[in-house]
Amino acid sequence: MKIKVAIIGGGAAGFFSAITAKENNPKAEVIIFEKSTKLLAKVKVSGGGRCNVTHDCKDPFTLATFYPRGGNYLKKAFQQFHVTDTLRWFEKRGIKMKTYPDGCIFPLSNDSQTIIDCFLSETKRLGISIQTSSGVTAITKEREEYILTVNNEQVKFDRVIITTGGQPKKSGLDWLSSLGLEIVDPVPSLFTFNMPNNPICKLMGTVINPAHVKIEGTKLQAAGPLLITHWGMSGPAILLLSAWGARVLHENEYIFNILVNWLPEKSEESLRGHFKNMKVSNENKMMVNYSGLPLTQRLWEFLIEKAGVPTMMRWKDFGTKNENKLLTVLLQDRYSVKGKTTFKEEFVTAGGISMMEVDVHRMEVKKYPGLHVAGEVLDIDGITGGFNFQAAWTTGYIAGKSAVR
Ligand SMILES: Cc1cc2nc3c(=O)[nH]c(=O)nc-3n(C[C@H](O)[C@H](O)[C@H](O)COP(=O)(O)OP(=O)(O)OC[C@H]3O[C@@H](n4cnc5c(N)ncnc54)[C@H](O)[C@@H]3O)c2cc1C
Repeated sequence: MKIKVAIIGGGAAGFFSAITAKENNPKAEVIIFEKSTKLLAKVKVSGGGRCNVTHDCKDPFTLATFYPRGGNYLKKAFQQFHVTDTLRWFEKRGIKMKTYPDGCIFPLSNDSQTIIDCFLSETKRLGISIQTSSGVTAITKEREEYILTVNNEQVKFDRVIITTGGQPKKSGLDWLSSLGLEIVDPVPSLFTFNMPNNPICKLMGTVINPAHVKIEGTKLQAAGPLLITHWGMSGPAILLLSAWGARVLHENEYIFNILVNWLPEKSEESLRGHFKNMKVSNENKMMVNYSGLPLTQRLWEFLIEKAGVPTMMRWKDFGTKNENKLLTVLLQDRYSVKGKTTFKEEFVTAGGISMMEVDVHRMEVKKYPGLHVAGEVLDIDGITGGFNFQAAWTTGYIAGKSAVR
């Protein structure tokens, strides 16, 4: 039987599911509807224009732990298609990848256009139709068929795959309302923290690696490189916190306190021992000039001042009271955050179509056989590092394959 398959959304998940559907059933008529004039727009800008395609994590269970939302569902999905499959998929199509020491995998060309060209040539080769400027504004089911409203026209399909990506507002999914699907309120994930007028911003450009950061009053904490920016703090440790805390931070309207441990590899006891040694071995040196700790000079000066230790104090005069104040600043330095800034390299939406609605083995809506979903439109999101695209490839693959089965 020649079946008609509609893919709604010409992004990463849309192209991956369209190609998979057509390859699995060459007789199927596959068409991608894209509402804008541009295809694969996010792939183009992804990873600073380089496209962080996936992450070097070959174990599906470990891979699933990088998703603050949806990891449990992805555990099952990764059994069908995971990182090794992604690499093989692109390699089969002549795309070489490079793995960086942090595990991020980019095309060897370092250009996201390589990925776009691959998708476009594959859709052409397979005879997949693409319609741009064709937003789908409604979907209904009539007996075994789905009726899509596209540019005020109604078009019938046997199977439909929704790959419309993350929507910043719940109203962005209103066009699906006739289906009565549960939608988890969308909130942003992967952002940096604003600290307006905080003197720490004078140290912009300073990287502390590793730092440990905790959100006061919660169990949320993360470790990794921390970057001081002219508006506050960024870097992997902050992005991790923003991802795991996306919902609670939204509820707090992005006003909260963080506690920074600038020396997570040192215990309080070892620091007290270090100070004791400094008092003997560097007794006449001014504290501000030499810390003997793995901190930049500028940060050390800043922390000394913040702790209220007199700037001219010599190590030999460093008493218990000042020591306690300095230890608090070194290990639990409090900063108040007021607002967020989008991380330009990668940002995603937490929330979307609830995974409770979806049979993850087929990426099919449980109450609507023949209706499949993939990509960021789902309540699935990962941390930075290629995990969001991996979720798009995996769910897109499963949706495309099962839609034509
Ligand atoms: C700046 C930036 C950089 C990023 N970098 C990376 C990275 O390097 N690595 C990584 O893993 N992730 C990255 N991400 C995240 C990643 O881009 C997304 O998770 C991924 O693109 C999701 O794919 P998708 O196909 O589900 O959605 P999208 O790529 O958003 O595609 C959805 C498409 O559907 C279309 N659409 C929406 N509604 C309709 C409708 N009603 N009818 C028809 N078409 C519709 C949209 O116009 C869009 O083209 C980045 C994100 C951003 C914003």
